[in-house]
Amino acid sequence: MCMRCDRCTNEAIAHLPHGPHLFCTSHFNYFFEHRVRTMTRMHAFFEKGDKIAVAVSGGKDSVVALNLMRKIMPRHEIVGISIDEGIDGYRNLAIEKAVENYKQLDINYQIVKLKEEIGSSMQEIVQKTHENQWKENSCTFCGVFRRKYLNKAAREMGANKLVTGHNLDDEAQSICMNFFMDRVDKLSRMGPKIETKNLKEWVARVKPLYNSPEEEVELFAQLNHYPHYNEKCCPFSHGADRNIYRMMLDQMEMKKPGTKISLIHSFLSMKPCLEQMPFDGKLQLCTRCGDLSSQPVCQACKYEERIRNAGKIEKMLTPEQINAMEKMSKTSGLPILNG
Ligand code: SF4
Ligand SMILES: [Zn+2]
Ligand SMILES: [Zn+2]
Repeated sequence: MCMRCDRCTNEAIAHLPHGPHLFCTSHFNYFFEHRVRTMTRMHAFFEKGDKIAVAVSGGKDSVVALNLMRKIMPRHEIVGISIDEGIDGYRNLAIEKAVENYKQLDINYQIVKLKEEIGSSMQEIVQKTHENQWKENSCTFCGVFRRKYLNKAAREMGANKLVTGHNLDDEAQSICMNFFMDRVDKLSRMGPKIETKNLKEWVARVKPLYNSPEEEVELFAQLNHYPHYNEKCCPFSHGADRNIYRMMLDQMEMKKPGTKISLIHSFLSMKPCLEQMPFDGKLQLCTRCGDLSSQPVCQACKYEERIRNAGKIEKMLTPEQINAMEKMSKTSGLPILNG
């Protein structure tokens, strides 16, 4: 026997365990969009005259954020920014989807290539990391550079708000990660709207999907036929610390539905106290690039310097070859040698 929607007699296509709710396609779409509208209004994301940049990787989250922003904020100017980290067989395909959305929505956009900005693609950076035995993992470099170049592009395009597609799962994982890794200063700077009132050069970030679970974002993208890339994960994602917290939170959510949203609510209740805590390193603008930093020179500029100084790569490997090298080095315990 098929299940029926809670709001009408149509067949239910979505069963949301926390609520619980059973929804048909149109009531699920209404429910999802309404939640994003409420989040946008409740946290006063935008003001009259704001120019909105949306960071679009081509995955479901950013594509949903872009399409909903276009719908919810019809009078605001919206532009798109895609960062091409340079990961063959992955990001190039995702960016194709991002461009399809830009074109469908008639949105101006910019694609920022990491290779052109810092002289190395992510693929080359991962290879240099292995060759030089740097302790950082791929996502550490990637995240730092993405943040910097999104901000730079948004500023150059004249935007004063930057929308990202972070969803409930991403945020719950980041809260746990920063908490368990003793990064309370970072925790204090998290939230659905991040702005620095006295540093106007930094474009305020807003996250309309902040309380939308990942699974529901995927369903919304599918039901609305938004072109998005969901073929495979990034080939360098296996070493990410985030995976540990994803697994932990997914298990907890399965046993106790509503865990992730409760975590977010607790965090938001604690946030005003966290903001009052005295942390080392006053937020300032990097003396080299002008991005937000807790030190005179930001982390991205320090990483860039190190990557440039590591020289050129003689023979470029594929992501699969790089991962195989990494596995070999872990098994043998020996460092990976050049060549
Ligand atoms: S998984 Fe890591 S390396 Fe891959 S795109 Fe995401 S942050 Fe970058
Ligand atoms: Zn219905
Ligand atoms: Zn800098």
